[in-house]
Order: sequence, then C-alpha cells, then structure tokens
Amino acid sequence: MIAAVYRGDGRIVAEEWPRPVIGDAEVLLRLKGCGLCGSDIAKIVSPATPVPVVLGHEVVGEVAAIGASVASCAIGDRVVAAHHVPCGECHYCRRGSESMCRAFKASNLDPGGFAEYVRVPAPNVQHAMFRVPRHVTDEAASFVEPLACCLRALRRAGVERGDTTVVVGLGSIGCLFVQLLTNAGAAVVGCDPITERADIAKRMGAVAAGPAELAAAAQREVSSGRGADQVIVTGGGADVLPWAAEILRDGGTVHYFAGGGGATLPLRLETLYHRELAVTATYSSSPSDLAEAFGLIVSGAVAVERLVTHRISLAGLHRGVELVLRREAMKVYVTP
Ligand SMILES: [Zn+2]
Ligand SMILES: [Zn+2]
Repeated sequence: MIAAVYRGDGRIVAEEWPRPVIGDAEVLLRLKGCGLCGSDIAKIVSPATPVPVVLGHEVVGEVAAIGASVASCAIGDRVVAAHHVPCGECHYCRRGSESMCRAFKASNLDPGGFAEYVRVPAPNVQHAMFRVPRHVTDEAASFVEPLACCLRALRRAGVERGDTTVVVGLGSIGCLFVQLLTNAGAAVVGCDPITERADIAKRMGAVAAGPAELAAAAQREVSSGRGADQVIVTGGGADVLPWAAEILRDGGTVHYFAGGGGATLPLRLETLYHRELAVTATYSSSPSDLAEAFGLIVSGAVAVERLVTHRISLAGLHRGVELVLRREAMKVYVTP
C-alpha cells in the first residue's frame, strides 16, 4: 500500500509501506480521509522525531476487514478511530489524567492515518472507534479527535457560564473553541492578526475578534474592566504567554493548548501568588471526551465542515504542511 512517510528534515514521501495485518480483536480500515493536525506539524518540525514514521491520527475509514472476535462493526461500515487509549484502571486514569496513563502514549494506530490502510488495535476498537451515521460527512467525522481535545481543555480551564474567554489563534482549533465556549455560555473574544480568520470567528459566535490590541480592549470591555477569566492559547509565538497573563483577571487561568517549543511564560512567582493565577494545559483527550465530541458532531451542535480549506492527496501531504506553516490553510484534509 501507499503511505505518506515522514523521513526527517521536513521531507515527506509517498511510498510503499507494508499493509498491516490484523489480529483477532482488531479492525483494518481503508482510509477515507485524515485531518492534518498541528501536532503532526510539530513532529515534522522537531528534529527529535524518530523516523521513518507515518503520522496522522484524525482518521475516518471504511472497515475493510475485522478480526474473528469483533462484534462492534461490520465490513463496509464507516468509522472514525482515535489513536491513543488509556488503560482506564491505573492511578492516572482514576484521577482524570487519562492522557498521562502509561498505556496511553504506547497505544497507536498502525502505521498512522496518512496511509491507504490503517490497523485499529483492540483497545482502540473498544474505546475510541465510532460508527459514523449517514448524514455526517467524512470530513466532519475527522474532527472528532480535535474537538475532543478542545472539550477536555474547556473542563481543565474551568470555563463557566458568564465567563469572558479570550482565544488566541483562530485556526481550525481556535474556531472549535469559539463554538464550544459560546455554547457553554462564555463571551468569547478571538485574537488573530489575520482578518479573514477573525471574521470567521465572529460568524461562529465570538463577540469580538482581531489583532492583539483589539482583543485586549474588547475583553476589558466585555468583562467590565476585570480582565478575562481564561485565555486559551492555541497558537502564537513566545510573546503570547506574558500578554495572556497580563490581560487575565485576578484569579484567572492561562490555558496552554498548543504544543511546540520555544514559548515560555516568564511570570514572577510573586505575581502568580498575589494575583492567584493558574496555568493549565491539555494533552490529547480521553475516550469519554471522544464520545462527547462525536455526539456534538452527529447532532450538529458544532459546525466543523467550513473549517476545511484544503483537500490534498497522500502524495501532496508535504504541500499541505507548507500551507499550514504559512498560515494559508485553516484545516487540511488528506485523502488517499
Ligand atoms: Zn489532532
Ligand atoms: Zn491508565
């Protein structure tokens, strides 16, 4: 089969890769499509990523084969499958840190979403695979995983009805946040220098959106001068974090969502203490987050399809990566 293989030094090549062989409780998917995630880009940019590797984890596929003991789906079903699954029993799992479970990072789809065929291991089949109803498109279904991460972030950032929340970075993730936060009853202010993205965020429910100065002024007004209850950082450089701390109300929370290196939060501990600020982060999502996200996409409570700006083939994945790095694409959807 063909897979888009990351070979290091930013090089992605569509080439032959062994087609996975499934076990008794596993499922083989024929790829229908896979979203290109910011975390895939982070791995491509990082020199520490072990290669060769097939990335991609926002997978929608058609069931091509099932193991003898699989009863939850049938050949021909359209499903969405996530890559990481926690054990559900360990100390981390019992305390809600499912994505820190030792089994979590060890689990994965094989070889990854940017391949013609994908093996879904048994725990993923059991806890992180959902049958897609007919009215939901492939592209919409591919948003289950990123939306699940955003839902987890909302909880971890402690968002409540009536809060003022600033979302920094209005790419596809930022726009998912705008919708979830609006649905949760928060007044959302978007921050992004790209005018088109600010406009999209406003259409999706943000009370105001624009570059940093505009966002800072807007959140002050919306919060009656108090400052934002939360600032959710989905993008931006090293300057974003101190700025975020500055526009927070006393007792507010900076939530760091995006991965990637470079950005630091130079914050005086005394400020942290006197202003009782909190710093939280989200890494990935749990099976219950995935189930909740799936429900929101099936019911149409969150609109995701308008976020896909570019559709490319496995052979063109390198172009998709460039489009995201240049901030030309909101969301790239990859098909075989
Ligand atoms: Zn993702
Ligand atoms: Zn666990």
